[in-house]
This record gives sequence, C-alpha cells and structure tokens, in this order.
Amino acid sequence: MRDFKIAEPRTADELAALLAESTESARLMAGGTDLVDELKSGVATAGLVVDMDKVPGLRGITAEKGGLRIGAMTRVVELAEDAAAGRDYPSLKEAALSLATPQLRNAGTVGGNLCQRPRCWYYRDPQVVCRKKGGFNCFAYQGRNKYHAIFGGSGCFIVFPSDLAPVLISLGAQATVGTAKGDKVVPLGDFYAGPEVDVTRENVLAKGQFLKSVWVPGPKPGQRAAYVKLKERSTWDFALVSAAVAGVVKDGAFTEIAVVMGGVAPVPWRLKKAEDALKGKAVSKAVIRQAADEALKDAVPMRENGYKVDLVRAALERAVLAAI
Ligand SMILES: Cc1cc2nc3c(=O)[nH]c(=O)nc-3n(C[C@H](O)[C@H](O)[C@H](O)COP(=O)(O)OP(=O)(O)OC[C@H]3O[C@@H](n4cnc5c(N)ncnc54)[C@H](O)[C@@H]3O)c2cc1C
Ligand code: SF4
Repeated sequence: MRDFKIAEPRTADELAALLAESTESARLMAGGTDLVDELKSGVATAGLVVDMDKVPGLRGITAEKGGLRIGAMTRVVELAEDAAAGRDYPSLKEAALSLATPQLRNAGTVGGNLCQRPRCWYYRDPQVVCRKKGGFNCFAYQGRNKYHAIFGGSGCFIVFPSDLAPVLISLGAQATVGTAKGDKVVPLGDFYAGPEVDVTRENVLAKGQFLKSVWVPGPKPGQRAAYVKLKERSTWDFALVSAAVAGVVKDGAFTEIAVVMGGVAPVPWRLKKAEDALKGKAVSKAVIRQAADEALKDAVPMRENGYKVDLVRAALERAVLAAI
C-alpha cells in the first residue's frame, strides 16, 4: 500500500471543506471494508484519506417526519437490529441481514454500502486499466462477463453490488448529500448514475460532496414489501440477481408498486414496465410472468450472463408473491 495522509475532521462542515479544498486525491473512509481493500491492492490510490468516524451526527437511526432517518455512518448491523426499522421495513432488515458476513456488517456502514465500488474482476485487478479506470476498453464486453449487467450497460457493464440500495429505492428513500454550501436532498434513485453519465463513477456526488443520511418515509396503510436475493452459494455472497418490491395492496392487487432489481445493471435498476403491468391487476403467476416479459424486452444479455434473464423472472415472482 502506498503512503497517504489521514485527516480526521470533527464536524460535517469541516469534512465537506476538506474534500472540496483538497488538491490531493482525497478518498472518504467510513468503515474501510471496501476502501482499504482497494488501497491495499492498488486498485485505488489516495494522497489523503478522510476518516468520517469522528464526525458527530452521522451515526444512528432516528424517527423523523413520520419516517426513519438513517445516518451514513450507521453500521449495517445496527440497521439489521433496529426495532423500528424491522417493524416498519421488513424488506430492509432482510437485505441488511443478507449482506456479507457478521464481521463485515459490524464494521461496514450504510453509507459505505450505498457508495461501495463495483466488483467487476477486471476493475478489481490492479494490472488492468479498463474504461472505469480511465482506459479505453471494457474487457468484460468481449471477455468474461458471467456476473455482469443485462440492463443499462453503456461501455461498462458492472452491476451495482449493494443489497441495501434496491430496497431503499423501492421504499421511496431520499438521500441527504452534504456539500460545502449546505445539504441537498435527492431521491435515492437519482443518487445513482450509469456509465453513460460518467463511466468512472456510480453516483452523482461531485468533489466535496458526501452522503450524509437516507430518510425512508413511513409505511402507508396496506404497504407490503419483500426482498429476494438469488446467490451462487448459500454462504455469504453478492447477489447474482435480487428483487426489491414495495407497494400498497388492496383487494389482492397493487394500487402502487415499485420494483427495483440488483445485480442486473450498473445502478439499482427499476423495472417500470413490470410495475405498469402489475399495477391494478389481481396478482397471479400469469400476471407476474407477463410483467417479467415486458421488463425483459429491454434486457441485452452477453455471452456468459444469459442465465440472469431466468433469474430476473424467478426473483420477481418470488418477491411479488412474498410481498402480496
Ligand atoms: C467479502 C465481502 C462480502 C461482501 N458482501 C456483500 C453483500 O453480499 N452485499 C452487499 O451489499 N455488500 C457486500 N459487501 C460490501 C460491503 O457491504 C461494503 O464493503 C461495506 O458496506 C462498505 O462500507 P464501509 O463503511 O466499510 O465503506 P468504506 O470501505 O469505508 O467505503 C466504501 C466506498 O464508499 C465511499 N464512501 C463511504 N462512505 C461514504 C459516504 N458517506 N459518502 C460518500 N462516499 C462514501 C468510500 O470513499 C469508498 O469508496 C461485501 C464486502 C466484502 C469485503
Ligand atoms: S465492466 Fe466496467 S469495470 Fe468491468 S471491465 Fe468493463 S469498463 Fe471495466
């Protein structure tokens, strides 16, 4: 690992100012479970590591405006064990418990999970300079792409690896972004941006900005939600495909519904066509199949990842039936 300086700001303003003013390649560190790995392997370099741990007010889960605010520095285990979150958002608890290992859930934070870098094996190889690292080629496109995207790939075919992101988006979460000029709030779905916007990043954070918290609106009457994660192994693993479904159910039909998939696109991927096909219809396997057919018209599988098409069908069916 190369040498770097470390800064420990004591306020959110100091943190934003440090990031905005730094001329060195500054990297934010939360729990460090992803960042330190990148620095050790040489995939990432840093002149300055800005440790968020001593900034007050970024950790914890509090009731606010009828919903829950989850600080970016809240540990994943704290989210998984929070009584209010478990009661009001069971799909979120499911996702938190499904990710990584107990050790990683103890050290890793919600903000770090939402801002973690991709797992593409070419990206994680320090010898490879692909488009995401400023090079000219996507090696996965012509190469090994078993774990890559079937939707939304545009010169880069990573899948966004977070389990929390699809669920939080399905629940209508908003992200609060800290900046040197004050906070701004964006729907969490708009926090992510695909490679067509900037292939080197996965979110819209500009220099000097960081994720401060997410706010999840309180559940509506009749709200149902589920999270289904399909993995290659039964022990810890990233999702091959996951489905987060949330909506309001009346008389066996969704009057509102959000379907967000993980493991299929460079960002958490909303299946709007499936939502339209499901809304207002009594849920049955035939209706779900039709919804999957509609959504999958946009899928562009590559040589090794065509199996994900079937996994999208399976995850969608299981999640919708579990929610209803
Ligand atoms: C073996 C292993 C298995 C895993 N399995 C899963 C899994 O099944 N599902 C899953 O979802 N994840 C999984 N992960 C990823 C894991 O959840 C993340 O490593 C962890 O959540 C990152 O949190 P952290 O606090 O350690 O972030 P850090 O490592 O500190 O940061 C991660 C990245 O996010 C940036 N960052 C952190 N916080 C902020 C912020 N507040 N604002 C802006 N940028 C920020 C950092 O600069 C860095 O680039 C796995 C990781 C490992 C190593
Ligand atoms: S999918 Fe993205 S990260 Fe992977 S090789 Fe292609 S450009 Fe690089």
